[in-house]
Amino acid sequence: MTATLSEQRPLLSVRDLKKFFPGPAGAPIQAVAGVTFDVQPGEVLGIVGETGSGKSTLIRSMLMLDPPTAGTVDIDGERISSLRGTKLREARQNVQLIFQDPHSCLDGRWRVIDSICEPMRNAGVSRTEARRRARKLIERVGLDPHTYASKFPRELSGGQVQRIAIARAIATSPKLLVCDEPVSALDVSVQAQIINLFEELRRDLGLTIVFISHDLSVVRHMCDRVAVLYLGTLCEVGPVTEVLQQPAHPYTQALLDAVPGQARDRERVVLKGELPSPSAPPTGCRFRTRCPMAQERCAVEVPELSPTGDAFVACHFPMRRSA
Ligand code: SF4
Repeated sequence: MTATLSEQRPLLSVRDLKKFFPGPAGAPIQAVAGVTFDVQPGEVLGIVGETGSGKSTLIRSMLMLDPPTAGTVDIDGERISSLRGTKLREARQNVQLIFQDPHSCLDGRWRVIDSICEPMRNAGVSRTEARRRARKLIERVGLDPHTYASKFPRELSGGQVQRIAIARAIATSPKLLVCDEPVSALDVSVQAQIINLFEELRRDLGLTIVFISHDLSVVRHMCDRVAVLYLGTLCEVGPVTEVLQQPAHPYTQALLDAVPGQARDRERVVLKGELPSPSAPPTGCRFRTRCPMAQERCAVEVPELSPTGDAFVACHFPMRRSA
């Protein structure tokens, strides 16, 4: 079952993606164990899950930075998972990444303007035109080009460096922006400013964004749809308004219940135990060893993502949403 929104051709289409690593005693580490989802043009999809759920591995294998063990990835109709070498590099120019640590995509020895110019120069833009555009981009991300163009990253605050990383990421008008915890290292007040910037850019440039976060309030604010990842598989995918208001999967409910200060009119779903090892995942439902609602069937039958309301849920006994 495809966790999609409409019949429109998706900008990003991921099918049964798997990424296994060699593990101890010959058992492979199943970091991503068969993930399928679509992202429509102009949509923001959030991917949430605990540390160790496979979020970052999913992104790396989806973008062929660390090629997947199996599965396919199409971006704007092009099967990038079949490409190699120059063709892959060209196709990847349609995608830009923003990381939690923005310094990782900026060269500390380069002035801000040169870092923003580089992807444009690589795409064949003249030096003069690239510098003109770079100044506009610095302004677009809320900084004064006269003050900041000639600075080095070490001279900027965390929020300012993230703004420059965003300017560099949008310099070549990518079709898809993939953001891996882009605000989690920032102070709360700066987080809000960067989230507002993402929202402006999305509105003005029609960006399509995959937004990884462990912070449900950020996802609720930023995203149209959310995909909940547990031990390398998707539990629930659907509109934020549905999935984070009335989750049908017990794991989504447990994530929500773990947020302090939430008002509740029912008992909390509390996670039991630790995240199991991805080299020895539980049989049947991967969540069953921690699920307070597990039954016998959960140990023998893998739950597939199935439509539940406007969302898709992988659970044999989904929690009921009120009408
Ligand atoms: S399939 Fe069973 S173990 Fe898995 S989430 Fe649903 S109730 Fe819990």
